[in-house]
Amino acid sequence: MSDETVEPSRTGNPVPVRDDLVEVTPYGAPQLDVAVRLNTNETPEPPPAAYLDAVGAALHTTELHRYPDRPASKLREVLGEAHGLDTAQVWVANGSNEVLVQLFQAYGGPGRRMLLFRPGYSAHPLIARVSGTGTVEHDLPDDFTPTPDLARAAVEEHQPDIITVASPNNPTGIVVDHPTIRALHDTSQALVVVDEAYVEFAPEGVSARSLLDDLPRLVVARTFSKAYRLAGLRLGYLLAHDWVVDDLRKVRLPYHVDAIKQIAGEVAVTMRGAMLTHIPEISAERDRVEKALRALPGIERVWHSAANFVLFRTAVDDLFDRLLERGVLIRDFSDKPRLGGCLRVTIGTPDENDAFLTALTDVLKEA
Ligand code: PMP
Repeated sequence: MSDETVEPSRTGNPVPVRDDLVEVTPYGAPQLDVAVRLNTNETPEPPPAAYLDAVGAALHTTELHRYPDRPASKLREVLGEAHGLDTAQVWVANGSNEVLVQLFQAYGGPGRRMLLFRPGYSAHPLIARVSGTGTVEHDLPDDFTPTPDLARAAVEEHQPDIITVASPNNPTGIVVDHPTIRALHDTSQALVVVDEAYVEFAPEGVSARSLLDDLPRLVVARTFSKAYRLAGLRLGYLLAHDWVVDDLRKVRLPYHVDAIKQIAGEVAVTMRGAMLTHIPEISAERDRVEKALRALPGIERVWHSAANFVLFRTAVDDLFDRLLERGVLIRDFSDKPRLGGCLRVTIGTPDENDAFLTALTDVLKEA
């Protein structure tokens, strides 16, 4: 484990970085070697051994001396089958973050504007900025729940070319309901990107996949990093109309998804029943942690989450550091806009969640 040292912007480099990148801070949560790591929303248990065996067996027939299948057709085909869509409506890339990068390369850029809601997933504005796309931020109400009225007002005010929302949202865990997604789509001319990195943890019916037939400018982004337990694989995908997939071919690098990843992804989708068995336990643990947090004096607010993490607010300034001293790493959002006093805990194993709750109870007693 390592923690990347984030250098402040340096001046006087032999070649100056682009002017619009001088103030950019590299994205990333600390990667620290502590006993209980609950800060990056991974699943705590590895994938089943049968999955690794199946990938290993499939690799024996993979021709690694050849370039991979450039359009990753087989992987897109099995994903399409899993979601009831044609291969032509599915695209894959190195993590859903790269899916987003490619969308901004294709539909963003100088002179175009992206609308996002605060608080939201901080990689979205970063990806937009690096692509040269302008960003406009619209605040969510204090309960952090978007509504169709808010969506319509934001679109009318900002006239965006691209809109991104995460559902469930990160770091709030709150779902964007279908009427709100429709309002974003129908009042705008924009590409509407719904980032569903955590949707497998949410109640059935939350996914915007079911709106695709109705909404021609809708894109749904998914990942293998969370519920599929494959964060180390770096594989994500999108579900959209075929014209989006055709446009993304223009910006992707040749052979952007390697052969090993294509195989690992195909096997994961084929074995998805076994890959996703832990979801009920994670959801039950999330509800347990949420309830325990609500009962603790010193926790001022807890947002009801549909994801594998919970956001809460406390008045104890140094809670993050004091948990870390006890070997528990969570995510500190307290210096972010709209998130004063807020921290987010990823749901781990029952033992890890107990370790978090015990450490938190101790710290709050001392405070
Ligand atoms: N979208 C959201 C909302 C996320 O929280 C994350 C992970 N932090 C990602 C996407 C990143 O997904 P991937 O690992 O597929 O790039």
